[in-house]
Amino acid sequence: MSKLSDILSNDLAQTDALLREVCAQAKQILAQLPTLPVGGGSPPAAPIAHSGGARAALNEYLTRFSPGLAASAGPRYFGFVTGGATPAALVGDWLASVIDQNATGSADSNAGALELETLALFRDMLGLPDAFNGAFVSGATMANFVGLATGRQWLGVQAGVDVAEAGLAALGPVRVLSAGAHSSTVKSLAMLGLGRQSLHRVAALPGREAADVVALAEALAAAPGPCIVVANAGTVNTCDFDDLAAIAALKDRFDFWLHVDAAFAGIAAASDRYRPRLAGWEMADSITVDCHKWLNVPYDSAVALTRHLPLQAEVFRNHAAYLRGEVEPGNFLQLTPENSRRFRALPAWFTLRAYGQAGYAGIVERNCDQARWLGEQIAAEPRLRLLAPVMLNGFCFAPVEGDAAALLDRINATGEVFMTPTVLFGQSAIRGAISHWATTQADMERVWAAIQSVLPD
Ligand SMILES: *Cc1c(COP(=O)(O)O)cnc(C)c1O
Repeated sequence: MSKLSDILSNDLAQTDALLREVCAQAKQILAQLPTLPVGGGSPPAAPIAHSGGARAALNEYLTRFSPGLAASAGPRYFGFVTGGATPAALVGDWLASVIDQNATGSADSNAGALELETLALFRDMLGLPDAFNGAFVSGATMANFVGLATGRQWLGVQAGVDVAEAGLAALGPVRVLSAGAHSSTVKSLAMLGLGRQSLHRVAALPGREAADVVALAEALAAAPGPCIVVANAGTVNTCDFDDLAAIAALKDRFDFWLHVDAAFAGIAAASDRYRPRLAGWEMADSITVDCHKWLNVPYDSAVALTRHLPLQAEVFRNHAAYLRGEVEPGNFLQLTPENSRRFRALPAWFTLRAYGQAGYAGIVERNCDQARWLGEQIAAEPRLRLLAPVMLNGFCFAPVEGDAAALLDRINATGEVFMTPTVLFGQSAIRGAISHWATTQADMERVWAAIQSVLPD
């Protein structure tokens, strides 16, 4: 009989002590997050010779890699759209690793039932009807992929072709219309074989990132057949919203699949103040909402929603004698790109049960108030220009004189905050988004002081 190696059996005997040590480390990291330099990136130290085992690996990791990590889980990391992890989400995430379920939806576990319950809580918080079938995927990119893949299958139905069986060649060229499609949609089009060139950019409203719906109607009228429309709820620079109700109303006149990318801004529907911005998204065919952004669960997590379960299953069907084949909500292996899946619903379930709609409305409204406050400071500072009104939780600005990239480097080098570069309306700019449950007004004042400290005299 073979037995565990000495190293593994030693680790097994040490499991309790190891978890205590990691717990102590986690406590220390969480306590330091508000004061650590926000940007990371120092190179790892040289490898350490050691005799193996988990404790040695932990020590090596702490020495070599831990110092170069970004404090992206902290309250002043404003790069991209980056949420932290609520305490309840963290509890769920730790447990997800410990119980290590393969959340395919198989009947051997009630993990699938928990995922369905989580999706119901999620729809309920966001005011979306039960007609949307949901599934957790790794991020908004994959949720966009699922929505567009299902839309591709729908286009096939319109043309009398089963694209999942016959392949794309049987369908011919596809037209995808969008004003502000996120780069991940473009990537998804490449992965789906539709091609990046299938995206036809529709004009935006003057000085906005939102679609000109009249121009969209013209593009639909000019298209040779049914199209996919990607509407955007929350663009990355200015957090702008397409007029989703007006776009959905075009379905009375034109045949198209409506996908709504609400990666971060979808969570704003938890707040009565911001839910009207999303009016009309309930008429979409598919929707993307990220969880590792404003829901503040740890990476990686998003929800893909569609109203077309059978079409979705035609795309993602995975036939095998030993797998459940039913096309029904909860049979996730038949509905998502993955077969084996992490139990991503668990951290989301914890945080939704712990804080609910009121908790998330509070986070959303606080972050939006904080972005507006910072926007006001920037607008009042003669050396800076706010490039667009603050519409939600993001802000976008540039120096009146000099280079935005150089100023961004100086701001990030303070270690007080981390923001990212962009180009808005042809101009280089600095952008940030506030999406953290624990960001306070004191954090905002620190960030503003850091920005001011590096402005030219
Ligand atoms: C972040 C983002 C994405 C991509 O999300 P990932 O979770 O990084 O895959 C897609 N669309 C929008 C609007 C986003 O903000």
